[in-house]
Amino acid sequence: MTSHKTPEDAIAQATALMGNAKIMMIDDEPLNMEVLQVHLEAEGYNRFVSVSDSKLAVETIKADVPDVLLLDLVMPEVTGFDILREMRLDDDIKNVPVIVLTSSEDADTKLQALQLGATDFLSKPVDASELALRMRNTLSSRAYLKRMLSFDPLTDLPNRLSFTKELGTALESVQQSDSQAALLLFNINRFKAINDSLGPERGDEVLWAFSERLKSTFDNAPVDSQCQAGNALKTSIARVGGDRFGILMPIACVVSQKEGLTNLLNEFVEVLEKPFTVADQDIYLTVSIGVSTLSKLTASVENLINDAETAMLHAKGRRDTQYAFYAEQMDEKARELLSMENGMRTAVENGEIFLVFQPKVNVASGDIVGAEALVRWLHPEFGLISPVNFIPLAEDTGMIVSIGEWVLRESCRAAQEWRELGYDDFRIAVNVSIRQLHELDFIAIVQKALDDSGLPADSLIVELTENMIMENAETNIVKLQQLKNLGVKISIDDFGTGYSSLSYLQRFPLDQLKIDRSFIKEIKGVTDRMPIVKAVISLAHDLGLNVVAEGIETHHQLAHIKALRCEEYQGYYCSKPVPDVEFIQLLNEHSRKSA
Ligand code: C2E
Ligand code: CA
Ligand code: CA
Repeated sequence: MTSHKTPEDAIAQATALMGNAKIMMIDDEPLNMEVLQVHLEAEGYNRFVSVSDSKLAVETIKADVPDVLLLDLVMPEVTGFDILREMRLDDDIKNVPVIVLTSSEDADTKLQALQLGATDFLSKPVDASELALRMRNTLSSRAYLKRMLSFDPLTDLPNRLSFTKELGTALESVQQSDSQAALLLFNINRFKAINDSLGPERGDEVLWAFSERLKSTFDNAPVDSQCQAGNALKTSIARVGGDRFGILMPIACVVSQKEGLTNLLNEFVEVLEKPFTVADQDIYLTVSIGVSTLSKLTASVENLINDAETAMLHAKGRRDTQYAFYAEQMDEKARELLSMENGMRTAVENGEIFLVFQPKVNVASGDIVGAEALVRWLHPEFGLISPVNFIPLAEDTGMIVSIGEWVLRESCRAAQEWRELGYDDFRIAVNVSIRQLHELDFIAIVQKALDDSGLPADSLIVELTENMIMENAETNIVKLQQLKNLGVKISIDDFGTGYSSLSYLQRFPLDQLKIDRSFIKEIKGVTDRMPIVKAVISLAHDLGLNVVAEGIETHHQLAHIKALRCEEYQGYYCSKPVPDVEFIQLLNEHSRKSA
C-alpha cells in the first residue's frame, strides 16, 4: 500500500546516486588511486577527491565530507587504522561509510578494521566489477539510512526532522531577502477517535489516502513557476506528526496568482473533506489548518511552528471555518485552551461538572414525559463553560470517557429519584459520544449505572449523533445492538445535518429520531411548507421510530409539528435546560403522576 517499489527501482535509484556521489580516496601510492578512478569513471562516477598524504586525511575529510571513503590501511606515519579510529570519535564524520583497501589476507587485520567501524573490504589488486558492486551497495544502504532518518515510511513524505531543517534554511533565506513564506499546518480532527474505531491498520490507510490527496492538491497548487524559479525559497510538504502535515510555500508565488492563499486553503478543505473509501466504508474527515508567516521578523523556526499550531487550534475551536491565520491575540486563547485541558482532568473530582435537564414534552398532551441531561462545567477561573466548547476537547484528549461515565451515572440516579416520586413513565436521555461507545467496557458501564441506580433499562435513552454512527457504520451496528440487548432505547440526534444512508438507517436498532433544530428554526410564517421536516417525520414513522423535534421556541412551531404528528418536543417554548431542583418544580406543574 505504502510503497510500490521493486528491487529494480531500488537499483535504478542507486545508479542515479552514483553521478552525485562524492568519492574520497586515501592512499600513499597515487597510482593506486588513478587506477581506482579509471574503474569508477567507467561505472559513471564523476566526483573524486584524492589524498596521498595521510597526515592530512582527517582534516580533508572534515572539510569536504565524502559520501564514501576508500581507505588504504597500510601507509607510513598515519595508518588507515589511525584514520578510522579518529573518524569514529568525531561526530561530524563518524557516519561516513568507509571501504577499506587491503592486500593483506590476514584475518586479524580485517577484524581490527571491522572493530573500528569499517563498512566493507576490497582486496588489492582491485577487481573492477567487485569494486563497482561494493560501491553501489554501500551507497544504496547509506541512501536507505538517510531516507529512514528523514522520511516517513507510511506516506513517503519528509518527516518532522527534515521539515524543520527545511524551515531553518528558509528562515536564513528570508532573512537575507524581502521574500515571505507561509507555513500551513494541517491537522485531521478527531483522528484519534477514528483510529480507535477503525483499528490502527485501517487508520494507517486513511492517513495514507489523506496524504496522497494533500500531495496532489499541493502539486497542482497554482504556484507561479516563474516566481518559483526566481525565489530562493523552496516549497515543501511533510508529515510532521501522527495526524499532522506541514506545507511551506513562498507567499509571493501564491498570491501573484489571482487566486491567493485563501482560495488555495478553501481548495484544500474542499478536497480533503470529500469522503475517503477505506475497506468499503465511507470515512468523513474534517481538517483544521493553521497558517503562520515566515518573514524577516520571524525570530526562530520554533516560533514559526508554534504560531501555526496556535492558529490551527484556533481553527479547531471554531465551527464556521477550517483555517485561521495566526494573530497575536490567539496566544491568550491558546493558553486558556491548555489551562482548560489541564483543569478538565480534575473537574469531575472537584465537583465542577454538573447536569442540567431539559424537559421532553408529549406534543399531544403537553405533559413532560422525560428529560435530556446536558452537561455543564463551572470552571473556577473561566466561569460557566458550554459543552459546545469543552466536549470536543474532551473527545480529543480521551477525557470524555470518564466525564461521560459520570454523566451516565448521575443521569440514571436522578431519573430513578424522580420515578420514585411517582413519575413512573419518566425517561432520561443521555448524550453519548462515539469515543465512549467504542470503549471496550462501555456496555458494562451502562449496565452498572442502571444496576447501581435501580433505573429500568427501558427508561434510559442513549442519544448518538447521526454523523457519529454513520462513520464506520458496520462496527457501530454491532455496538448498538449490544446496547439494545440491555433493553436501553437508542435515539439518533441532530438528524438531518449529517450524511445518512437510508439503507444503514434501516439496519441500526433505533427507537427515536431527533430532528435538528436548524430545520425547526426555519418554521416562521404561516405559509411555510417545511418539506424537510415533513419528509423526515414521515420517514421516521415509516421506519417505526418516534420523533422528537428539537429547539421549539414558538407556539407556531409547535402547532406545525403537531399537525405533522410529531410525538415529542424539546425547546425553550417549554423550558431551557435547568438544574435538578428547578426541574422537579417543572415536573410537578406539567406532568401527571401515574398512581
Ligand atoms: P444537543 O444534544 O443537540 O443538545 C441540544 C442543545 O440545544 C442544548 O445545548 C440545548 O440547550 C439547546 N437547546 C434546547 N432547546 C433549545 C431552543 O429552543 N432553542 C435553542 N436555540 N437552543 C435550544 P447545550 O446544552 O449547549 O448542548 C450542546 C451540545 O453539547 C449538545 O447538543 C450535545 O451534543 C453536547 N452535549 C451536552 N451534554 C453532553 C454530554 O453529557 N455528553 C456528550 N457527549 N455531549 C453532550
Ligand atoms: Ca442530544
Ligand atoms: Ca440535538
